[in-house]
Parts: sequence; C-alpha cells; structure tokens
Amino acid sequence: MRLPKWSGWTIEIVMHRVRRAAAIVALLLSAAATGKAEEIPIPHSSPSDAQPSPASLSRYADLVPPATNTNTAPAPAGNLAYPAVGDTTPAPSASSTGEGMALHPGTGGAGRHRPALFNSVNTSRKVVALTFDDGPHAKLTPQLLDILRRENVRATFFVLGSLVEAYPQIVQRMAAEGHEVANHTWDHPRLPSLSTEKFDRQIRDTTAIIEKNTGQKVTVMRPTYGLYNERVKNDLLEKYRLDIILWSVDPNDWKKPGANTVARRLIEGAHPGAILLAHDIHPGTIAATPIAIAGLKAKGYEFVTVSGLLAMDEAPKPTPAPSPAKTAENKAPGAAN
Ligand SMILES: [Zn+2]
Repeated sequence: MRLPKWSGWTIEIVMHRVRRAAAIVALLLSAAATGKAEEIPIPHSSPSDAQPSPASLSRYADLVPPATNTNTAPAPAGNLAYPAVGDTTPAPSASSTGEGMALHPGTGGAGRHRPALFNSVNTSRKVVALTFDDGPHAKLTPQLLDILRRENVRATFFVLGSLVEAYPQIVQRMAAEGHEVANHTWDHPRLPSLSTEKFDRQIRDTTAIIEKNTGQKVTVMRPTYGLYNERVKNDLLEKYRLDIILWSVDPNDWKKPGANTVARRLIEGAHPGAILLAHDIHPGTIAATPIAIAGLKAKGYEFVTVSGLLAMDEAPKPTPAPSPAKTAENKAPGAAN
C-alpha cells in the first residue's frame, strides 16, 4: 500500500472520529439537559394489566424460591470483562462488523459501540429482529426453536436467569443454533423499585448464567415491562455496558388475541430496523411465528439478531430521543414484557 494514500485515509479517519466525537458530546449534553423528562419514559399500564399472566407468575414462583437468587455468589463487577470503550470511540460501521455480529450474536468486540437505548435501529435495509421474552418455556421454546430452524431464522431470546437455571439445555440449544440469548432479569421484578443490591443481583446473576451456558458474552438486555428510571438506565448502560432494548412493534401477544392476529400485527407493523416483541411462553405466539415469518419474508424482510441489527445502525446515538408519535404508538402498552 502506498504511503500517500494510506496517509490520506488516516487523515480522513481522524477527521471522521473528531466529527463523531463532537456529535456524541452534543448528544450527551442535550440528553443531560432533558434527562428529567425521561425518568418514566413508558406510561404505566394499570397494575393489573402490568402483571405477567397468572400462569407465568405461578411458574416463576414454583421455579424461583426467593432463596435461589441469593445462592449464587455474585461475581465482582470487575469480572464482567466488557471492553472499556471510550466515550468518543466511533461506532463500528455496518460494513465492517455487520457480518461478524450476525454470525456471532451477542459477541461484543473491542470496537463495539457505546451502549445505548433502542426502540428500533435506523437502517434503510429490510431487516427486523424477532425477539421472544420471558422464557425459556419447557415445551413451547423447543417447538419455537424447531420452527426457527426450519425457517432458517435467527432470533433473540430475552430470558429469565431463573429459567436458564431450570432449563439450561434449551438455552444451550439457542446458542448452538445461532440465536442471541439476552438478559431479561432473574425472575421478572420491576427494576425501578429494587434496591441497588437486588438490582445488581438480577442483572449480574442472569448475565453470568447465560454466559456460562452459551459461551457468548451478553451485551443486550430488556427491562421487564419496559420499565426503567434514570438510575436503572445509567447502571445498565455505564456499569454493565448493556444496550437497553425496547421494541417498535408490539402485537400484544400476551393478551392472547389468536395466532392470526398476532402474526398480522407483526407483519403489518414491521419496518426496516424494527424490533418485534413477542413471548415464547404463549402457545398462540408459537403458532403465530411461522405465519409471521412467511408474511415478513414475502414483504422482503430478513431476520437478524438484536446485536446483528445494532451493527447495522446507520446513526448510533447515546440516547436516541423517540419522536412523540413513536412514543405513543410503541411504548404505551408495555404491559406483559
Ligand atoms: Zn418480560
């Protein structure tokens, strides 16, 4: 490679980084200025709506006696070997990391972007991330994995640490078949109401048991019910270096509207960069999945893991501010997540 050309590239890269750093600092400043307004970003549903289904609750109760969580020795925070990413490190471009991220879901490399909160990803490509919360379920999740394998679709599972402990083989299978396994807390509490100690255990123990079973680094998480406050958000992003993943399409599958309705809502709601929300603990959702996949494929969509989708983000932002329309449309339900 000739030196003059190489030098030109270097200057271009440096200038690019400077511009990106300036943009990120500006965003951080504006985020700091508006931070207060973001404290409860997702309107609460009524308390009765916001609970998991009774079946789910009893299942959690059966599998997760309160003592279970404390039996796991918490690892020191320093053991979470996430790369130290400088505040102004430019995010990797999709072209340089998109393939790698897709092939190795959940793997955070040294060039990984600064953790942020996402409802969706800004891309013009017809890609969506199919996500399933609250599992693994002993019977339904293996059925879902069969469907995804048949359809050659990669998804992301936001699992509960307590259920990973109960069904480690299912989680091992998820990873072996190319899916991303992500943190959805240990036993589905409301994060803003936890003490720091309990919050830390929910996040740390869940990440640890996933990583033990998958061999993949956990880099993304979804708060239960989509609920967080400033403290929860800062800890997840800064202390645990986790992306906070909400959603842009919610079919309300937990209300059991029927498989065809769930599928139709997913297909009609899809958009480039969409994050689709579903739960692999409801039979109707499992039945809806092949219908939704067929409809989305017919519309030209491809499926990637959440980490794969994040790698395609054309404008990563530390704290993307959703538009008012998006907030109303996508965040309002937030009930059984
Ligand atoms: Zn949930």
